[in-house]
Amino acid sequence: MGKPGMPIRTRFAPSPTGRLHLGHVLAARVARDLARSRPGGSFLLRFEDIDGPRVRKEYYQGVREDLQWLGLDWDGEPLLQTSRTAAYEAALDELRSQDLVYPCFCTRREIQDEWAAMAAAPQGPEGPLYPGTCHRLSKSEQSEKLAAGIPHAWRLDCRQAATIAGPLTFHDLRFGEIRVAPDLLGDVVLARKDIGPAYHLAVTVDDAFQQITHVTRGEDLLPSTHVHRLLQALLGLPEPVYLHHELVLDEQGKRLAKRCDSLSIATLRDAGLTPDEVISRIDH
Ligand code: GLU
Repeated sequence: MGKPGMPIRTRFAPSPTGRLHLGHVLAARVARDLARSRPGGSFLLRFEDIDGPRVRKEYYQGVREDLQWLGLDWDGEPLLQTSRTAAYEAALDELRSQDLVYPCFCTRREIQDEWAAMAAAPQGPEGPLYPGTCHRLSKSEQSEKLAAGIPHAWRLDCRQAATIAGPLTFHDLRFGEIRVAPDLLGDVVLARKDIGPAYHLAVTVDDAFQQITHVTRGEDLLPSTHVHRLLQALLGLPEPVYLHHELVLDEQGKRLAKRCDSLSIATLRDAGLTPDEVISRIDH
């Protein structure tokens, strides 16, 4: 872990669902520079490719090409999350055996209707929180629905998790010590109906698997880190140091998205920019 003098291991973890843009360049550079700030560090590449239908084959190669063109070379072979599903299932089993997750049969529509019927839906930093409908099902109702094969997600029981884990903090190189709010995102989905184990679980399990000492990511993911720290405690995984960096914004002050292709690295390269010129666009 991030002890003074120990080599630093970081990762850049894009989803191959589009071409890289300037926001990714910043994320990759922050991770690369931190890894290289001490002797013996490693900068790893991970493809977060479990998001089923949005993943496209050509984007894996696109990511590699863009990073190499920019001189942001990674160490070793990239890790593909699609090769790791057994590890995520094992982690989910572990949480299931501790009764820390529950199946959720709600459709998006049902959740929306429930919010509409509430005087004030509980709010989180990313929108209204799951109203807890399936948390109220009895064990026999749960078993009946599971036996009937009704499609379901698996949600973290954040209150129960908080009780088991006790008070937690994480350390961020920019923001300092942060106290974990286990209910910040409510009973988050850990396994989706369509793809099974999803982002929060996969990223937590893989950061431990790849022995990442410093997790660097955009500050938009700060709320997610509360969930990941909780999962680390529940699964007995090591605690990395964090660095939540600023985001690259477009002219309207909005976060860049893959759909605004105009700022993709490939487009800038085709327009004749050099790697240095592209990189200088993220230097403030
Ligand atoms: N895959 C995420 C992204 O592209 C980053 C994952 C993480 O750093 O937690 O934004």
